[in-house]
Amino acid sequence: MREFSYEALPMRVVFGPVSRLGAEVAALGLKRVLVVCGPGHASLGAQIADRLGAELFAEARMHVPVELADRASELAAATGADGCVTVGGGSAIGLGKAIALRHNLPIVAVPTTYAGSEMTPVWGLTENGVKRTGRDRRVLPRSVLYDATLTVSLPPRLSLTSGVNAMAHAVEALYAPDLTPLIALQAEEGVRALAAALPRVVADGADLDARSDAQFGAWLCGTALAACTMGLHHKLCHTLGGALDLPHAETHTIVLPYVLAFNTAPAALARALGTDDPVEALWHLGGKGSLRDLGMRADDIAGVADLVAASSYANPRPATRDDIAALLQAAWAGEHP
Ligand code: NAD
Repeated sequence: MREFSYEALPMRVVFGPVSRLGAEVAALGLKRVLVVCGPGHASLGAQIADRLGAELFAEARMHVPVELADRASELAAATGADGCVTVGGGSAIGLGKAIALRHNLPIVAVPTTYAGSEMTPVWGLTENGVKRTGRDRRVLPRSVLYDATLTVSLPPRLSLTSGVNAMAHAVEALYAPDLTPLIALQAEEGVRALAAALPRVVADGADLDARSDAQFGAWLCGTALAACTMGLHHKLCHTLGGALDLPHAETHTIVLPYVLAFNTAPAALARALGTDDPVEALWHLGGKGSLRDLGMRADDIAGVADLVAASSYANPRPATRDDIAALLQAAWAGEHP
């Protein structure tokens, strides 16, 4: 007998040109939005802000430092913003979520990477080297506009790694304690879509069909993150990101095969990847990198292992502090997982 509870999250998803953004904002009844983006999108952000008659905050950066969230929230309050439009990847969306958390402003997200943050009520804030995350319905974007042309400028490596970041959400959903049948379908299909799209995106960054397929996969994988409790992999990556400021998507890409080798890979993942060895497939897809390549020092392993071991998370296989240190050591050295 099946036993589960599934809750649909209220959100509108549009695959279409960014020129529809004004209509999306208007449909929510928003009159005075704040556009949030990172410095790399300052000019696109300015164009969009101009078109919407909005203020712009173009300083978003990785892992949402709390000082930045403070300043952006002050600007939102000072300008009387009634909503927030995020243009960019998880960093811009993360900053929008931090503002939403304080001022309860609806978010319209225009994602430009494949990380999947736009689909989730998960927020993160980094203070004193520690990244706190939480779930709150107020930060779930009300509307998401996926325009594949905005991801054409995403470099091949970042395209690949942000796509693998999204796959990691689906992978951990597939062994999550609160996985439901609908999310299992979405997670499996999300991995399948990304596994097929990413090599095409890397081969030809201007391939809009491949980019759009990657966004489709990101959407599905993001819904899996939104619906399920994440495990050891996400705990490790958030700890590495918060403590050492490692690049988020790269870190996910390197760590995922090692966590999967520690946990047993779910059958649905093997189906989605079309292989009986998902660990090997993901290691090859990610380019067999190491945490050392990202600038992590061997001395950092013990501290990160302590932090992870001291935190609580769901995982199909319990991990001791020594298990975690051994996993980090292997990922740091880039050993065969
Ligand atoms: P990002 O938003 O940090 O962007 C990475 C880099 O790529 C930045 O320099 C950015 O300017 C650039 N960039 C983004 N889109 C581009 C484009 N189309 N063309 C050229 N350059 C582009 O990267 P990300 O991996 O999307 O996000 C990482 C952050 O998102 C982390 O802080 C992570 O914790 C968070 N995240 C949160 C969730 C969630 O559900 N809360 C999910 C995934 C990621």
